[in-house]
Amino acid sequence: MMDEEPLLRSFTTGGLGNRMTIKVAINGFGTIGKRVADAVDAQSDMEIVGVTKTRPSFGCDLAVRKGYPLYCTFNDKERIDAFAPAGYTCMGGLSDLLEQADVVVDCSPGKVGAANKEIYVNAGVKYIFQGGEKHAMAERSYTSSANHEQNLNAPGTRVVSCNTTGLSRTLVPLYDRCGSLKVECTMIRRAADPGDSAKGPINAIKPVLKVPSHHGPDVMTVKPEIQINSMAVAVPTTLMHCHSIVAFLPPGHGLTTESVLDLWRNQPRIIIMNGGETNITTTAEVMEYARDIGRKWGDLHEIFVWEDGVKLDGDTLYFFQAIHQESDVIPENVDAIRALMGTESDWRASVAQTDAAIATYNGI
Ligand code: NAD
Repeated sequence: MMDEEPLLRSFTTGGLGNRMTIKVAINGFGTIGKRVADAVDAQSDMEIVGVTKTRPSFGCDLAVRKGYPLYCTFNDKERIDAFAPAGYTCMGGLSDLLEQADVVVDCSPGKVGAANKEIYVNAGVKYIFQGGEKHAMAERSYTSSANHEQNLNAPGTRVVSCNTTGLSRTLVPLYDRCGSLKVECTMIRRAADPGDSAKGPINAIKPVLKVPSHHGPDVMTVKPEIQINSMAVAVPTTLMHCHSIVAFLPPGHGLTTESVLDLWRNQPRIIIMNGGETNITTTAEVMEYARDIGRKWGDLHEIFVWEDGVKLDGDTLYFFQAIHQESDVIPENVDAIRALMGTESDWRASVAQTDAAIATYNGI
């Protein structure tokens, strides 16, 4: 163990020396954090060294049941000591956790993570932020299919938001096939996550009046070559986002509606189903399908594309896709860990490894 310490901190090589296991800390054990923790825990090349909670609350029970060492998000003694009277063993503060870790996945609420960056840098750990943080703060962004190689051995990155991840899944392969791509899209966004009682609207359609919305342009943080703009509305649902997308392919693309579908069928983490044939015609049925096939928490890591909602008319491609906001970014975090640690340079190999391990805790 003593011999490993210099290797843990010598990140410029991205190597783990002879050690096989990447030690991962989760800072913020909420909607995204608890899911990333389980996905990491399932991987044979990674282990969870601890998760943080801000204070004793019901989320601590889950960490205890899973056997994840529990730490306090903060270092002050008073906050650490508050866990014991509630019946939880708190192993220490964030700094104690970071001492155990090679990489920290920051799953704190949006815009909070920026304040944590200095702590991670000073602790000498690699860091992964989520889509609620700014690209400029994280200095780079990540999706598995767009720019895994550009993140190899980097000190830190940001896994882009659920919407941007969804756009990247279908648009990057189209771009790679066509050589150029212009896109206009509308994000029809869920108002809140199912466990969130603080947000809305509950009886309104709320346009995002900042035009264009950040979602489309955010794709360009991982694939700058795609010219994309978006608008967004929030609607009173908690289940999924739905994207309405118009993509302009370059002349001479040689694609048909069927070959676009085949292109996506050959990509990981995209599910294509015919709404008319399956009677999966809304996000409610997509989520019911995810529960039927035994997905933990009813999650769907894949992007769902309705086959009968895809049409290529000349050079203009129209399609809808549904995004399970709580889970599509989860496997991407696992791939991002391998990219930062430099342990797998081939994004498809990482995706295959990640997804095979996750399948061990999913029903089918
Ligand atoms: P959440 O509110 O469910 O969980 C955040 C957790 O972080 C909570 O347990 C909270 O107590 C804890 N926390 C609070 N202050 C903290 C701090 N200073 N340091 C560390 N942890 C702290 O939030 P979430 O939905 O899991 O979102 C986390 C990040 O993931 C955000 O950047 C968000 O934009 C992004 N994201 C969320 C979704 C989604 O649908 N929920 C999808 C994709 C990306």
